[in-house]
Amino acid sequence: MTSFSKLFLRAAAVLCILPTGLTGCKANGHESPGTASQPPLANVATAPPQTTDDAPPSEKTGGFDGKRAFAHVAKQVSFGPHPSGSPAIAQVQEYLLSELKSYGCTVETDAFSSDTPAGRLPMKNIVVKIPGEKPGVILLGTHYDTKKLDNFVGADDGGSSTALMLELARLLCPQHGKYAVWIAFFDGEEAVKAWSESDSRYGSRQMAARLSTSGDLKKIKAFLLADIVGGRNARFLRESSSTPALVDLIWNTSAKLGYSNIFLNEATSAEDDHDSFLKRGVPSVDVIGDFLNNGYWHTPQDTLDKISAKTLAINGHVFLESVKQLQSK
Ligand SMILES: [Zn+2]
Repeated sequence: MTSFSKLFLRAAAVLCILPTGLTGCKANGHESPGTASQPPLANVATAPPQTTDDAPPSEKTGGFDGKRAFAHVAKQVSFGPHPSGSPAIAQVQEYLLSELKSYGCTVETDAFSSDTPAGRLPMKNIVVKIPGEKPGVILLGTHYDTKKLDNFVGADDGGSSTALMLELARLLCPQHGKYAVWIAFFDGEEAVKAWSESDSRYGSRQMAARLSTSGDLKKIKAFLLADIVGGRNARFLRESSSTPALVDLIWNTSAKLGYSNIFLNEATSAEDDHDSFLKRGVPSVDVIGDFLNNGYWHTPQDTLDKISAKTLAINGHVFLESVKQLQSK
C-alpha cells in the first residue's frame, strides 16, 4: 500500500530499492539503519520465539484465537521473503491451501500472470467461498505477497492480515449465514518497482475485473480489507477513500467492543487493494494500521517481534462482529 498524502515516500521507496541505495535510505520518513547493520536473514528467521502472552482468551474475542493467528504469522515469516513469482511464495500458497482445506473451506484458486517492470510474473489469488441463503456477498480480503526488498519478510505487511483471514476462515467456514462470505487472499499487492496504477494491486485488480466480466461484482455488498493489522503498538485511523458507511461500521463496532483506544477518530489515507473494488463501485473499507508511524514499514525490521497476538485478536473480534452486523442487514 502507499499513501496519497505522502507522495515523497514513493520517491524514497524507489531510492530504497536501488541496488546501491539500501544503506541509510529513508523508507518512511524515519531513519532506517539500512542493511549494513542488519543480521543475515537466517538469524532473523531463527530468532527466539516471540511471546503470545498478551493474547486474550478466545472467549473474550468472539472465538478468535490470537495465538493461532500469531502462529500463522510466524509460519509465513519462516518461508523468508516471498514476493510474487518467487519460489517461497509457492510455499506460502501451499500452506494457505492446506490450512483452509483443513477447516473444511471451499477454496477456489485463480492462477494468472501479470506484466510487471520485472517481466511477466505468475500470480495466484486464493478465494474461500462460504455459501449464503440469499443473493449477496460479504467479501473479506488480505494480500499475502511481500514487497521485493532485501531481507524483507513482511510480518506485519502481508503476514498479519493473512493470519487474520486464516483464523476468520477457520471460524466462518462451518457457518452459513444469510449472505455468502468470500475471503480473498490476493497475490501481487505490492509494487514490483515503484507504486503506480499499473505496478500495484495485481491480484485485486485481477479479481475485480473477472467478477465484473462474470456479472458477480454487483453481488458484493461490502468489501472489508485488512492490511498491517498485527503491530504491537498499532493504532488504526479512518482511511479517507474508504466508503464512509463501512468506516462507521468498523469504528462503531470497535467502540462497542471497547477498542476505542486503538481505533482512533483521526483520518489517514492509503492506496491499497480496496481501490480495485472502489473504482468499480463496490463499497469498501481498508482497515490498516498507522503504517506511516510504525517505524518499520517496508524495512527489514518488519519482523515477528513487532507482532502482537492481542492486536490480531482485537482485529479478529472487530471483523467477526462487523460481519455479523452485515449479515443482519
Ligand atoms: Zn506493503
